[in-house]
Amino acid sequence: MSNDPLMDLSAEALAQKLAHARSLPWFRALYPRILEVQTLADLHRLPVLAVEDEFGGELFSALGDASHRAPGGGLTLTSGGSTGNRKQITHSWTFNAAIVPLGARMFDVTDEHPEVVINCLTAGEMQGAFHYATAIVQHIGARLLPAGSQMGVQRIAELIQSHSADALMCTPSFAAALFNHENVGSEQLGSLRWLYYIGEPCSKTLRNQLARDWPKLKIRSLGYSSTETGPIGFQCAHLEHGFYHLHADAMLVEVVDPLTLQAVAEEKTGEFLLTPLLPDHAPLFRYRIGDRGRIQRTVTNCACGSSMPVLALEGRVETSIKLGGAIVTQSQVLHVLRQILPELDTADVQVQIDRQPGGAHMRLAIAEDRLTAVTQTFIEGALQVEGQASALLRLPGVLGLEVKRLARQAFETTLTGKTPFFVTLEPTPAKS
Ligand SMILES: [Zn+2]
Repeated sequence: MSNDPLMDLSAEALAQKLAHARSLPWFRALYPRILEVQTLADLHRLPVLAVEDEFGGELFSALGDASHRAPGGGLTLTSGGSTGNRKQITHSWTFNAAIVPLGARMFDVTDEHPEVVINCLTAGEMQGAFHYATAIVQHIGARLLPAGSQMGVQRIAELIQSHSADALMCTPSFAAALFNHENVGSEQLGSLRWLYYIGEPCSKTLRNQLARDWPKLKIRSLGYSSTETGPIGFQCAHLEHGFYHLHADAMLVEVVDPLTLQAVAEEKTGEFLLTPLLPDHAPLFRYRIGDRGRIQRTVTNCACGSSMPVLALEGRVETSIKLGGAIVTQSQVLHVLRQILPELDTADVQVQIDRQPGGAHMRLAIAEDRLTAVTQTFIEGALQVEGQASALLRLPGVLGLEVKRLARQAFETTLTGKTPFFVTLEPTPAKS
């Protein structure tokens, strides 16, 4: 026993989770080293888990398959996965029930009591957010309008008006469309006092605009969570944008260096590896969510009274790709290109990798609105010059480099509609 009841609680939950994982024959076959893990200090012996990794995310696929076969059914949701390789995971019904009180923690110690909530998240589509938000509304005993995101902004505005809805649950993109619709104004939306968003980050631009045009509206995150892990943190009414109380009794977070995967110093920024502690069909360990941030463990108690540590979410981890044993990072590529195009944004570039037996050809696709035909020729010339691009061309796995102007919609995307910075092109089938 320690002096910290929260630590004891999470150590106990981890011990149970480890025992469960060790008891599953299929899990022992996948993770033989689970037998060496007795406590938190041994956790680093287990491999890092990701939906997509350099081995094609085999481990995640195996866990997903096992979760579908587990007795008792559950809720099957789509995770990431790209290039014809969409992945799904099934959460047990027990897990689904257990995450609801966590989601409702944001309402525990507050005088915020929504009475009529309109849920405008995406319903169906193998996504979990709509279902989750509905369960939270039920938990706090409010009335629910299950509108969904597909009803059309004007009909939703009418519903908000006719039911005097005081809270809206939606994605930031949906909020932007609703509050900026030309036929929608304070007459329809005047009853709304709270906006709870989930699913993507809420940009500063949107937050500033809503604060200016809708001063009565309070904007809060409905929680920091992921499809694969469930809830990670909650934003009490006293925490600023980007800050969350960690559900420390239900989620273990390691903060590591994204390249070495070694733990960073206490309270320093790094990449999150998540180990959910709630019982579920497939035990996930050290799940790589792709977010970076830090955990403030020494901060004095928050004004809300929660003793849960505060987590600062600082954005996505810089992506990288392994070529011939060397790691190429996003900032390395951007650094080279910005010597020629200083205004270039991350979203203007996609690095397309064509893997060949002897190495890889690297194609730098640049959005055509950022790159004129003249500049393209200039860049290609410049990249051949020693010094300019040597950082990329001298890498052991790189056979050649090509610059290509592409319409943004011609960039490669994943099945979930995201545009990755690095993408490995699938080999074209040989013509017979
Ligand atoms: Zn708080």
